[in-house]
Amino acid sequence: MRLSNRISGIVGGGSDGWGVFYKARRMIAEGIPVTELTIGEHDIRTDPVILEAMHKAAMGGHTGYAMVPGTDRLRDAVASRIQARTGVPTTRDNIIITPGGQSALFASHHSVCDEGDTALFIDPYYATYPGSLRGVGAKAVPIKARAERHFQPDAADIAAKANGARSLLINSPNNPTGVVYSRETLEGIAGVCKDHDLWLISDEVYDTQVWQGEHISPRSLPDMAERTLVIGSMSKSHAMTGSRCGWICGSEAAIQKLIDLATSTTYGVAGFVQDAALFALNLGEAHEEKVAAPFRRRRALTLEALAGQNAVRAVPADGAMYVMLDIRATGMSGEEFALALLDQHRIAVMPGESFGAAAAGHIRVAMTIDNTRYVEALKTLISFANEKAK
Ligand code: PLP
Repeated sequence: MRLSNRISGIVGGGSDGWGVFYKARRMIAEGIPVTELTIGEHDIRTDPVILEAMHKAAMGGHTGYAMVPGTDRLRDAVASRIQARTGVPTTRDNIIITPGGQSALFASHHSVCDEGDTALFIDPYYATYPGSLRGVGAKAVPIKARAERHFQPDAADIAAKANGARSLLINSPNNPTGVVYSRETLEGIAGVCKDHDLWLISDEVYDTQVWQGEHISPRSLPDMAERTLVIGSMSKSHAMTGSRCGWICGSEAAIQKLIDLATSTTYGVAGFVQDAALFALNLGEAHEEKVAAPFRRRRALTLEALAGQNAVRAVPADGAMYVMLDIRATGMSGEEFALALLDQHRIAVMPGESFGAAAAGHIRVAMTIDNTRYVEALKTLISFANEKAK
């Protein structure tokens, strides 16, 4: 039986650079020890106090159908967190709770793109982006953020592809580059969105992981609140990846329609998960900093380890749990480098090419193992690159 073009086209053709990741996983399954610096998941688990709140909520009976838009209390808490951090007036009517940021990305594009519409996104990109856009039937069009601009997108590059497009998806702090978009970058992006009447989908799931500079939500820029949908999540900020709890923040009109969509798709998020998320948010910024602290430390360790050599250079690693390393001095592609590093040293990193053509000649290192093993792996990686660069 024929399946829809929408679903058949989710996975694009061609090599996507994920071969290294799957090879590392095969080696591990065969009992070969591999140091994995690949996936964006904390090396800690959800804090037991949050799990206790979840348990209490479930035992207290919050196990039936929850309210589809999210519980009033969680929507209020998310709204006041956003208002406090951005200054933009925000109420529960601007918020829908979703099963994680991923479903929020899909729902946002579903709500703004019709079949065949052009949906722009920035390359390098989080691996699921093109599939999410194609999954709603949109034409996914990448815009390169250039390495020589430290992967800060250029408004002129976006404008060049914006005619007739419906939406632009951005992500800051960025996965995979670790770059935090500057005010200038975001003002440029906002200008293009207004000039070309684009929706802006702003993926801010790493908003609590900023090591340098500040996180600016483009919804707070002049005249942007009506055309911006912000994606948030408990996954990265509270180490709650498995709980599947995120949100979309947007205009009341957009959120109302997104609630209609949720009613006919997810039918909401488990009530006991929402209660745990509320408890977690109420732990305040100190808890968010506690979850972010290991990455802040490892980012500093990375910069120390890289000092005094030129074969590997860090892209300004200002946020998120990754560092993007420029290994072009070795003369190898990101994929060649990552494969050779895996074969010779049993260290798995992601080739930049897995995240789009703009990241060719780079590798992404996830700072997601303990400090000692992390520094050891990084030193091996650096001396390997220095040998190759000779
Ligand atoms: N956006 C970005 C940039 C990510 O890196 C991720 C996960 O790695 C997500 C969204 C989705 O996160 P979740 O669905 O767990 O909220």
